[in-house]
Amino acid sequence: MFDPALQQFLVWGLVVLAPITALALVFVVAPYGRHQKSKSRASLPARWGWMLMESPSLWMFAWVFFQGQHANRLVPLLLMAVWGVHYVHRTLIWPFRMPKSPRRIPWSIVAGAFGFQLWNSYMNAAQIAHLGRYPDCWLYTPPFMAGLLLFGLGMAINLWADSRLFALRKPGETGYKIPRGGLYEYVVSPNYLGEILEWIGWAVMTWSGAGFAFALYTMANLVPRALEHRRWYLEQFPDFPRGRKAVFPGIL
Ligand code: NDP
Repeated sequence: MFDPALQQFLVWGLVVLAPITALALVFVVAPYGRHQKSKSRASLPARWGWMLMESPSLWMFAWVFFQGQHANRLVPLLLMAVWGVHYVHRTLIWPFRMPKSPRRIPWSIVAGAFGFQLWNSYMNAAQIAHLGRYPDCWLYTPPFMAGLLLFGLGMAINLWADSRLFALRKPGETGYKIPRGGLYEYVVSPNYLGEILEWIGWAVMTWSGAGFAFALYTMANLVPRALEHRRWYLEQFPDFPRGRKAVFPGIL
């Protein structure tokens, strides 16, 4: 079942899908959050939508991982813990940290993200517990140490940036304000910057096609959205600082 040929297909499939997704997102903005133009009837409360669409990153990952012949080895277990720290937060904690709101998320977005998570979680768990070779000494290699550092830095930025956004709304408010301070002085979406750094860190730490394909796809998904956020802020707020980039300070 955990066939190297299938893994190749999943990895290269995601690499091919990444530029297609980026291009599509330049023309069609994913309709959730501020970019949801009309109320879709086929939708569910945002909190439950996030929990559902992110959930394969927990159960699919665990199901594949624990069948792996390397599942009881130190490095695969540590890598699973790193994955778990991000996804336990994203799936079970983050949806309850976001301010209570009547906002809904379309089923189409939930279905797309759910499918992506099935694919991506299978592929990354297969890499770590079935197909990859991670002896204990992998812990002392530059890729593992540098990747872990980058992942930690990215997660810290992502958590900080999302918390800053959540704090902008008083209870009951649903509108948008200009976020200020720290990385927000340089980019519109430091939460996306953090997320991208995390998955580049993961790619380096696992030194795998699966990790690099995921990092590439994350960029393909988040960079166009950050550009759209920036365009939206400039349209909505005449006093929005024009020098603020979308996601990479001083670059884009
Ligand atoms: P956004 O930055 O669009 O929004 C994050 C939260 O902050 C939402 O609850 C949003 O409310 C609120 N918010 C945003 N801007 C403002 C503002 N100016 N004033 C007040 N409130 C604001 O992020 P996403 O919803 O797209 O993503 C959420 C998290 O999920 C991020 O951490 C992101 O990195 C991660 N993510 C990861 C992906 C990946 O490919 N790995 C893909 C997508 C997201 P509202 O919902 O009402 O707009």
